Amino acid sequence: MFEASITSRIEALKHLFLAPGSSFSLMSLLSAVVVCIAFYVWRRRSRGRSITLRGLGRLAFPTHLLLHPSTRADAVLFVLQIIGLGGILGWAYFSQPWIVAHVTRGMILLFGGASPASVHPVLAVAIITLASFLAYEFAYWLFHWAAHTHPLLWEFHKIHHTAEVLTPLTVWRVHPVEQMIFINTLAVIVGVCDGLGRYFLGGGVQIYAMSGVNILLVFFVYTIVHLQHSHAWIAFTGVWGRILLSPAHHQVHHSVDPKHHNRNMGSCLAIFDWLFGTLYVPSREREVRKLGLGDEVKAPHDVVAALFEPIYRTADYLLPARPGKPVTPVAQQPAQAGH
Ligand SMILES: [Zn+2]
Ligand SMILES: [Zn+2]
Repeated sequence: MFEASITSRIEALKHLFLAPGSSFSLMSLLSAVVVCIAFYVWRRRSRGRSITLRGLGRLAFPTHLLLHPSTRADAVLFVLQIIGLGGILGWAYFSQPWIVAHVTRGMILLFGGASPASVHPVLAVAIITLASFLAYEFAYWLFHWAAHTHPLLWEFHKIHHTAEVLTPLTVWRVHPVEQMIFINTLAVIVGVCDGLGRYFLGGGVQIYAMSGVNILLVFFVYTIVHLQHSHAWIAFTGVWGRILLSPAHHQVHHSVDPKHHNRNMGSCLAIFDWLFGTLYVPSREREVRKLGLGDEVKAPHDVVAALFEPIYRTADYLLPARPGKPVTPVAQQPAQAGH
């Protein structure tokens, strides 16, 4: 039993680092470094400035960020997520294929077997791949918006925002409780979309995927997703800034400046932020100077406190009123002062 658990954990780690479609594969991290360097070279050249090896080195391996206490906390949470807590909570995750199968079966029970739409098989795959990706993006935006606006969810999501520097490891700076709710939200919304797609397009239509991950998401993982948690100010502005969520968009999301609070909740696309009024298109020049929550959290990189305090505070919040109980034990991120 124990050996089986170790073996499955090793397989999971191999998949995480080596599977081409994994969201944290070594290939995708290397690709992010290449994209970052290419952007640096292009921008320096377009401004007539020289390209130095020192500048390239600081960009690709910023030691002052990698040695920061914030990154150390990210690394500890990363290890806990992939080895320990994620596995303990894994039993609770909804199975997306199970949801897809039941949505398809439910539709057949309610409306009878639909004859699949007469579209070319390649077009059917393209439609279901795009629809599933949009469902993922919507689910991501919805959960993230809820995490910023509901006080209890913010208690857990706050850990991610206590980061004071950003590296690709920061994506793992999440509370396991938040991770569990997040994955279930994704599974339900994407599963319903995929189930409806199979019902209307035919049960045999599969999403175009790499290592089980939607190919559109894989494309973004190899280009901009890792750089969203980085120091590279790569800003999409104008129309592109309303369609795609550039690294600068997400750095705005982590800014201490109140005018940036509760903005840019999407993952790869900015369209849902645009649609629901939470978009902040960054300027071409760096406009975020400080990251984190300022003085709101006393020990932002204390991992033990980060893991247990949200649980204490949530339990306290949910327990019946009693003499001496704090009136507002949880608080949401302060609303932004303006656009
Ligand atoms: Zn957030
Ligand atoms: Zn983030």
